[in-house]
Amino acid sequence: MAGCGRGLKQAPAGRGLTPAAPTGSVSWMRIVLMGAPGSGKGTQSQRLVERFGIPQISTGDLLRSAVARGTEYGVRAKAAMDSGQLVVDEIVLGIIRERLAERDTERGFILDGFPRNFAQATALSSLLGTLGRPLDAVVLFEVDYAEIVRRISGRRSCQQCGRVFNIHASPAGTPAHCERCDDQPTLVQRADDEESTVRRRLEVYEQQTRPLADYYAAQGLLRTIDANASVDEVTVRLFALLESLPAQRLLRNAS
Ligand code: AMP
Repeated sequence: MAGCGRGLKQAPAGRGLTPAAPTGSVSWMRIVLMGAPGSGKGTQSQRLVERFGIPQISTGDLLRSAVARGTEYGVRAKAAMDSGQLVVDEIVLGIIRERLAERDTERGFILDGFPRNFAQATALSSLLGTLGRPLDAVVLFEVDYAEIVRRISGRRSCQQCGRVFNIHASPAGTPAHCERCDDQPTLVQRADDEESTVRRRLEVYEQQTRPLADYYAAQGLLRTIDANASVDEVTVRLFALLESLPAQRLLRNAS
């Protein structure tokens, strides 16, 4: 089932991340996952969380939660989200600053869906510089347009725990209910996964977010994976890629 980490293949041996490392023992990673909507960042983030015990910070999830709770940020963000536009930087940066101040991020984090434009990328860089916690890598998920449309049309999420499933990747057919929650709530499709909104989100990605690949490549941080594959296969590629990070980076962060 998409989004479910059970049955995950063990990572092959390598520097820093070894098959012997029990879940949660690796705590050095500070990474950004970059990619178009539907490229699999969220699903792979959940697997990294389960494997390494560091938190996923998804600005999309944080904003949806703010909207659902009716906070000031949420009220201001809703219209942009509904139309597939980016939420203003001030709100997103406010949310990120608050989240990165929480203790569970001290030993690593996975940024999913942030940064999404140059202003956010430079603000992140200066925030992490101030904290003395620079990024280890930025992973770009490359996926064909047709595959993205197919994935997004099959995407469903649990309203209660937020876990993401995909009806196309479920071996048993359409999962109608969340298997993680005791009362098995019905899975729902996100409003902004509707086709015209998805098209807009893809345009915004191409115009504002994709160019960040060059920005991070210039800093030697960019790693790219071909994510036109099954969820399990992409996970194997992702783990292998993270293991290939320079040894000095792992050592610097291992303490
Ligand atoms: P996502 O779940 O990451 O696809 O995000 C859903 C929506 O939340 C996006 O279409 C944007 O409207 C908003 N959003 C999420 N992350 C950001 C961000 N870093 N900057 C601006 N808007 C964002």
